[in-house]
Amino acid sequence: VSRLDALRVVNLTAGYGAAPVLSGVEIEVRQGEAVALLGANGAGKSTLMRVIAGLHPAADGQVAFEGGLLNSLSANERVRKGVVLSPEGRQVFPELTVRDNIRLGAFLDRRDIEARTQAMLARFPRLAERLHQRAGLLSGGEQQMLALARALMSKPKVLLLDEPSLGLAPRVIDEIFGAFRDLRDQDLTLLIVDQMAGLALSISDRAYVLSGGQVVAQGRSAQIAADPAVNAAYLGG
Ligand code: ATP
Repeated sequence: VSRLDALRVVNLTAGYGAAPVLSGVEIEVRQGEAVALLGANGAGKSTLMRVIAGLHPAADGQVAFEGGLLNSLSANERVRKGVVLSPEGRQVFPELTVRDNIRLGAFLDRRDIEARTQAMLARFPRLAERLHQRAGLLSGGEQQMLALARALMSKPKVLLLDEPSLGLAPRVIDEIFGAFRDLRDQDLTLLIVDQMAGLALSISDRAYVLSGGQVVAQGRSAQIAADPAVNAAYLGG
């Protein structure tokens, strides 16, 4: 089966003010693929995710999805096309209930909102138990699940996962990554940034390693995981 390019980043440069954070970055994610984006703190991973999602401008280069350029589209327009960022769990709306946070994910397309909400609650039973609580009262892991549920409500074609394990206990991380495995097995296209390189490599097909804003290594995840030089130089051993 030949897989079409879903997401393609070409010669991307971006930064804050005059300082470039990303320079000449090239990545591609094929339909149904799970791709990990690795690198030390400050390598530029979050900036790349934000540029893809339309939350930060590209200074140069292209971001394309399913063959169409995204550069001039707003973040909302990209969500409508299926490019959806699942932010860190702390970015839920703390004063709103779990239910309202989930429903917010359907802000661009409210069709079947009740059925879709029910599907999320079936997927994340812990959220169902806390449906009418304020999101700010949830545990860190539950907030991460809620952020993911909200992102899934937007009907993503490619889901951008930014640091999903951040600050979570090992057992909770297993649960969240279990959900990613299910999504991957259902052929959702995933781009995953995580400090836990071994974990991100274990659920991805391919990986890119960023350092100093450039792609310094790429390959099958199993190969990257087994490469001592890459591990020592960029992934903390
Ligand atoms: P981390 O894992 O620590 O989040 P990262 O690989 O995601 O790292 P980025 O967050 O993209 O890296 O940051 C890349 C560089 O850009 C860093 O040097 C950071 O200090 C800088 N940077 C990030 N956000 C801003 C900002 N809003 N204004 C100025 N500089 C920023």
